[in-house]
Amino acid sequence: MCGVIGLLTRREVGPDLVEGLLALQHRGQDSAGVLTSDGTFHLKKGNGTVGSVFNPKNLGRLTGTAGIGQVRYPTIGPGSVEDAQPFYVNHPFGVAMVHNGNVTNYFDLRRELMCEDFRQLTSFSDVEPLLNVFAEGLERTDLKHFSPASVFKAVRGVFDRAHGAYSVVALIHGRGLLAFRDPFGIKPLVFSQQGDEFAFASESVAFDRLGFHGFTDVKPGEAIFVDFKGKVHRSQIQPGTPRPCIFEFVYFARPDSVIDGIEVYEARLRLGERLAREVARQGLKPDVIVPVPDTARAAASSLASALGVELREGLIKNRYIARTFIMHGQDRRALSVRQKLNPVRSQVQGRDVLLVDDSIVRGTTSREIVQMVRDAGARRVFMAITAPPLRCPCVYGIDMMTRGEFVAKSRTVEQIRKVIGADALVYQTYEGLIEAVAGPQPGTRNSQPATRQFCTACFNGEYPTGVTRRYLAQMERERKRWPK
Ligand code: SF4
Repeated sequence: MCGVIGLLTRREVGPDLVEGLLALQHRGQDSAGVLTSDGTFHLKKGNGTVGSVFNPKNLGRLTGTAGIGQVRYPTIGPGSVEDAQPFYVNHPFGVAMVHNGNVTNYFDLRRELMCEDFRQLTSFSDVEPLLNVFAEGLERTDLKHFSPASVFKAVRGVFDRAHGAYSVVALIHGRGLLAFRDPFGIKPLVFSQQGDEFAFASESVAFDRLGFHGFTDVKPGEAIFVDFKGKVHRSQIQPGTPRPCIFEFVYFARPDSVIDGIEVYEARLRLGERLAREVARQGLKPDVIVPVPDTARAAASSLASALGVELREGLIKNRYIARTFIMHGQDRRALSVRQKLNPVRSQVQGRDVLLVDDSIVRGTTSREIVQMVRDAGARRVFMAITAPPLRCPCVYGIDMMTRGEFVAKSRTVEQIRKVIGADALVYQTYEGLIEAVAGPQPGTRNSQPATRQFCTACFNGEYPTGVTRRYLAQMERERKRWPK
C-alpha cells in the first residue's frame, strides 16, 4: 500500500508535492520521492519518511510546475533505496511514473521484459515493469504526431500485460500528466481540477491541504490525460468492474478521506453500529468502551452510543512510534505495541472493559494490548473487532502475504480468543462489513443497504483478478528471501 500524487499547476509544485505526500504519509513510511519537470527532470528520493527525505536544500532543486510523488510501503523485493519511486525512462520523451498496488504477474512480466524485450530493469519495484510496458507501447505509436490517443493506446498495452492492482500517475515530459487505474479499481485514485490547475492523489485528503476543492474518482479501467495546454482527456480503456479494497475503509485510509464516493469516517461509524449488534447478541455488558487508537476510534464511539455505554480513551498512544502494522518483524511489532500504547489506569481499573480494534492479523498486538489493560487493573477484558477474521494474504499491496501468519487461518473464534487472552472476542460479520461500508442506498436513509461490491479477498479468499496457488507460493518464497 502506497500513496501517490501528481500535480500540474501554474506555480512551483515541489513544495506542494511534499505537502501532499505528508497528508498521505500514513500510506507508507518506507521511502518517499518526488520528481518535477521544468524542461528537465529533477528527482529526489530516499528511504524514510517525507520529513526525513526532504529538506529546504533538496526541495530547492525540485523546480518546475509539473511533478509526481510517492510514499512507499514495500510489498515486494528487498525494500532498498533502489526501489524507491518515482522511476523514469529517457525514451520516448522521458516518462516518469509512480504507482500504488501490486502487480501479481510481476515475476513473469519482469522476465519477459528482460529476456524477450531486452529492457534493463534496475530494481525489484513493480512500477518498473509497468513503466517499461507503457514506454514500449508509446514507442510503437507515431511519436511525431503525439496525441492523447497514443497515450491511451499505451495504457491499453499495460492493461493487456499487467495483472493485479495498480493506480498509476505518470508524467510525460513536455506532454502532460497521466493517471490510470486497473480495471477492478482495487486501489483508490482521485482527480481534481481547480481552474487551470490539476491534481491526482491516492486519497482526497491530499487535496484539502493543497486547496483543491471538489474531485472525482479515476474510474476502474479509466485513464485521464491532462496535456500541458490544460486540456483534460478521459478514456475508458477497459470496461471497469469496480472492486475497491474494503480494507481501506476498515483500516488503511484516513478517516477524513472520501474513497469511491464513500466517506471513510461515516463507514467506520456504521461499522461500529453493526458491531454493537454482535456484542449485544453475545450478551456482553461492559462498563466502559475503549478504542485502540487510532483507526478504531470512530467505530468505538458509534458502538458505545448504540449500547449506551460510556466511551473512554483508556489507551494513550505515543504518536512518535510508527504504526505496528507497517513495522516489519514479529519481535519489533510486539515491542512497539508497548512503546506505542499505555493504559489509563483510572479508566480501566476494576471495570469490565470492551476494547475495540479494527483487525487481528497475527494476534501479537491484540495479546499485548489485552495483557496491558489487565495489568492496569481491569476486571475483565473483552475485545470487539470491526472487521471479520482476516484469513488470506493480500496480493494487492498490504504486507500480510504469508498464509501461515494469520492467527485466524485455522482457528475458531474461541481458539483466537484464547490466543489473545481475552475474556470474550466478538468479530464483525461479513455481511455487516459489506453493508456498513457500502452504506445506505442514496435517498433511502438507513433502511436499504446500497448494492456495491468490494475486494474482500483477505476475508474470504475471493481475489477479483484471480490468483493461482503457484503465485501465492512464489510470494511467500520472495518474502522469506527478503524478510521484513
Ligand atoms: S485482499 Fe484485502 S487488503 Fe488486499 S486489496 Fe483486497 S480487501 Fe484490500
